[in-house]
Amino acid sequence: MTASEVSGLLDWFSEWGISYPWGDNPTPYRVWISEIMLQQTVVTAAIDHFKRWMELFPSVDALAAADEQTVLKAWEGLGYYSRARNLRKGAIYLKEYHGSLLPDDYKSLLKIPGVGDYTARAVLSLAFGKAYPVLDANVRRIGQRLWARAEWSGKTEDEELMKALEELIPHDQPGAFNCALMQLGQQVCRVRSPECSLCPLKESCRCRELGLQAEIPAPKKRKVKEKSSNLYLLIRDGRILLTRRASGIGQGLWFIPSLPAEIEEDFLSTLEPLIDHSPEEVLVLEERFHLYTTWKEKLSPRMYRLKSGTRAVSSDLEISKPDFPDLSEHFRAGSAAVAVSGGSADGTSAAGATEGSVVRPGEQDLWEWVPLSALDDYPTPSVYRKILKDIPSLFL
Ligand code: SF4
Repeated sequence: MTASEVSGLLDWFSEWGISYPWGDNPTPYRVWISEIMLQQTVVTAAIDHFKRWMELFPSVDALAAADEQTVLKAWEGLGYYSRARNLRKGAIYLKEYHGSLLPDDYKSLLKIPGVGDYTARAVLSLAFGKAYPVLDANVRRIGQRLWARAEWSGKTEDEELMKALEELIPHDQPGAFNCALMQLGQQVCRVRSPECSLCPLKESCRCRELGLQAEIPAPKKRKVKEKSSNLYLLIRDGRILLTRRASGIGQGLWFIPSLPAEIEEDFLSTLEPLIDHSPEEVLVLEERFHLYTTWKEKLSPRMYRLKSGTRAVSSDLEISKPDFPDLSEHFRAGSAAVAVSGGSADGTSAAGATEGSVVRPGEQDLWEWVPLSALDDYPTPSVYRKILKDIPSLFL
């Protein structure tokens, strides 16, 4: 990329750049929130969430004062909920150590929970006007194509590209330069079918010269593992049994209890005496898929109406029939059995989860009979929200 191409890039951006709500008033707080939201999220999905977030938590202080459940609820639908938990922790940290302001130096920014190299650079360039280039997937793809590098194994190439960008970034418009490159990757130098004729960098692009745009970067072959789970929508006295995960993926969110499909029979024999309708009345709801980075879980929801007074957890205060089994124990034990017997293909853990594993009930999880009328107050992954919305009105 030459100096005149940098200027052409900025011209292209001022003519074709898309304006987003966070870009109109790029305060450090707004840039921080938007950059965290945009990680792992498509831009269109982030726009409404960002606007709503700013109404709910317009400042670091407002976010620091919010409880975790409210923050997770505002994040609902964006996935990777640890980002929301870290934003709240970050706000509490900023309030305590930085007078509720984001610092304007790289090292201090990295101390904020959830802030890494990319976010720190974005805040410094977009909000503070400092000449820090950013490297996201779009910028990396442009670099790889400009240099026609078939191999891009990671750190070494990233450092080389970063060094080149540091020499090119204009000190009077670092934010516009970063946004221009990222948007060029989204709009023109797309993964498939880049529009080279419209590209302000085409003169120095080796990939275009060699006609290698389809080969570089090499298409990813990702093997997605699959897992099947049965979800149990257990309804009793106008309430549904939900569990709030204490750790792992989905920490702090509410889930419908589930079991690996292979152990259904055992559980049904436990459940049968508690069901308040004939077996034919079991409602089988639409199957859904919960997608993760490298695996997907098929969710098969069934709905059962339980006898009045059925308890779910040892601490359930509404125990009216103490002989009834503790259902939460069954979910824990069922998952543990599968994990111990090696029945899970992906390292399922009974007590929590690591990235890439199906999460099963853990000892610290909360269990609650949630009123059906209050479901909207409970943050839950969007696929579970869809299932909960499928509950027919006759149960409400
Ligand atoms: S010329 Fe084509 S391949 Fe090269 S950077 Fe521009 S859009 Fe990407």
